[in-house]
Amino acid sequence: MNPLLTPIEYLKGVGPQRAEVLKSELGIFNFRDLLYHFPFRYVNRSEYFRISDISSNIAEIQIKGKMVSLKEIGENRKKRLIAQFQDETGSAELIWFRSTSWQVEKFKALLHKPITIYGKPSFFNGNISFTHPEIEEEDSQKSNFGLLPVYPNSEKVLKKGVNNRVFQALQLEMRQQIQNYIKENLSDELRKKYDLISRKDAFLQIHFPDSIENLQSAANRLKFEEFFFLHLSLLSKKINDNKKFKSNPFPNVGKYFNSFYSNHLSFELTDAQKRVIKEIRNDLGKEAQMNRLLQGDVGSGKTIVAFFSMLIAADNNFQSLMMAPTEILAQQHYNGLKQEADKIGLKISILTGSTTKSERKIIHEELESGKIDILVGTHALIEDKVTFKNLGLAVIDEQHRFGVAQRAKLWKKGSKPPHILIMTATPIPRTLAMTLYGDLDASILDELPKGRKPIVTVHRKDKDRLTIFKFMKDEIAKGRQVYVVYPLIEESEKLDYKDLMDGYESISRYFPLPQYAVSIVHGQMKSADKEFEMQRFVQNETQIMVATTVIEVGVNVPNASIMLIESAEKFGLSQLHQLRGRVGRGAEQSYCILMTKDGLNEVAFKRISTMVETQDGFKIAEVDLELRGPGNVMGTQQSGMLDFKIADLNRDKEIFIAAKNAAEWLLTQDPMLSDSKNKIIFDFFEAFHKKQIAWANIS
Ligand code: ADP
Ligand code: MG
Repeated sequence: MNPLLTPIEYLKGVGPQRAEVLKSELGIFNFRDLLYHFPFRYVNRSEYFRISDISSNIAEIQIKGKMVSLKEIGENRKKRLIAQFQDETGSAELIWFRSTSWQVEKFKALLHKPITIYGKPSFFNGNISFTHPEIEEEDSQKSNFGLLPVYPNSEKVLKKGVNNRVFQALQLEMRQQIQNYIKENLSDELRKKYDLISRKDAFLQIHFPDSIENLQSAANRLKFEEFFFLHLSLLSKKINDNKKFKSNPFPNVGKYFNSFYSNHLSFELTDAQKRVIKEIRNDLGKEAQMNRLLQGDVGSGKTIVAFFSMLIAADNNFQSLMMAPTEILAQQHYNGLKQEADKIGLKISILTGSTTKSERKIIHEELESGKIDILVGTHALIEDKVTFKNLGLAVIDEQHRFGVAQRAKLWKKGSKPPHILIMTATPIPRTLAMTLYGDLDASILDELPKGRKPIVTVHRKDKDRLTIFKFMKDEIAKGRQVYVVYPLIEESEKLDYKDLMDGYESISRYFPLPQYAVSIVHGQMKSADKEFEMQRFVQNETQIMVATTVIEVGVNVPNASIMLIESAEKFGLSQLHQLRGRVGRGAEQSYCILMTKDGLNEVAFKRISTMVETQDGFKIAEVDLELRGPGNVMGTQQSGMLDFKIADLNRDKEIFIAAKNAAEWLLTQDPMLSDSKNKIIFDFFEAFHKKQIAWANIS
């Protein structure tokens, strides 16, 4: 057996009880898992601080000195052990909660002796204290290493006595047994080209580095490896896909496209729109299936780009479909696209969950006979038994609402899979997009139509409410409309619903009939009622729309100039950004008001201040990625592919690009990895790839 796969209970110092928590808490089942349990920090044990050196907010440090007093205070669960610690420059308090009598005895024995404490200092009322510092008799440190690893750990594991010191010991014990089995998986050629240390050295150095430089080389090598095999997997899938999937090519750009472009376009396209339409046009001309992600911030004008793509399909006698995540959005797309389609005599229909049976029958027939050129709809579209005469293009709006499985069903709608254009208004950082959609080409609308005014964004608290209501009245007097949005989080649905209703009532009181009319839309309403209320707002029959996040995506009311978001701290960044995008769609100055409670935590504050500072969707997406990690960014939850052990998409962009280049370079040299010098890469890749297949089939 491969010694790396030895069950963790067989490591000296572990045993069955500790093994149990290591498995359940940290996912460490065998030696290899422990090897991959990387330190998240290091402490420089060759460097000593003095108490007078301590400035606030520094990481863990060590100080030489002595304990001059020791006392226990409080009773039972509130019991604390407090020691006064001194060096020649000052004094600090050491605190232990839940101290055991064993600990007390041990510390008593150390009183007035030279010791080294080690921990993270904190300031309170001008005093320096250390909570749960580690204590050593001076010079008991036997390790030769300057940098010592600090491992991620959990409360339950600690309770079984596996503290950081024990983790270090386990790592050292294990390395004796396995270091000769850490196999290289990159060729000499590649390692030379990218200046990478050996895999064995990398694993040894990442746990117990000899120097900062060696630590960096080790981290670099391991991150590179992680990205490299991911890229290799994505690229080889792309090569296979290009071989496998053929769609119908659309060689002609003809009367629909040209006549609409020359005679019916009511504004000038932005340069970005022109560029992206060209990219799509180029793709559609080919037989290889288009798989294109169209990223564009809210309001960047993705819809018209999609429409031009549909015109190319129509010019080649193919049908198109457009799917939206909600009924409201589908309806809005339909209304908008119908106006345009009518101008050039294309037939467009809508099919959603609320389409009646008799309407549905007609639509089915007209799709099969080819009478319908464009079909707009919701998820119902793919669940539905609809078949097309010749579906050539599928446009998917706001893809993150569509599951992978649903998208897969699209394939079955025609003899050949349609070309696919996925539109998303949730900008995804480039690194993440490449990872998530490695086999998708990306187009970016990075320019807003001319004349848009930046949205003034402010952060306000409850005490400002009357001023805000007054401001709303002023805007409404100018003819504008207002959104008021409440959070709706699944776990606390009832509470949120109550907040929404309370809010609606107080707004209705402050903005009474007949002078004002207030709409309300929320998830528990029937879709016909929602639609009715939406339409009243769209028609400007109501001035205020109180809603939960159902309006989040896509809704277009250019006359709305205020977006008031209640309990804004409860929303994620990308949601806030989406919501703000509902205003600023007309020529008027628009406002986004973020209401929060007092005393936000650090992360919530960062979200709110990011919103106030910038309107750049890509910047916002980067902050989002930084705050939440890739696994939580919209659309990535189901992928499971971003569980990097050491690499970080946000911080390691350069390595990410280098690894991509390396994978591309390698596959151009040796597409099948059949050259003997690449055998070690191939072997590792095979094992890796098997694991990845599950998520790699993403679209
Ligand atoms: P999104 O990218 O958020 O889906 P839309 O496609 O809904 O944006 O476009 C937002 C608004 O901007 C629409 O009213 C649309 O008609 C308008 N629009 C799109 N492109 C342009 C342009 N080049 N110039 C002016 N207005 C445009
Ligand atoms: Mg849109």
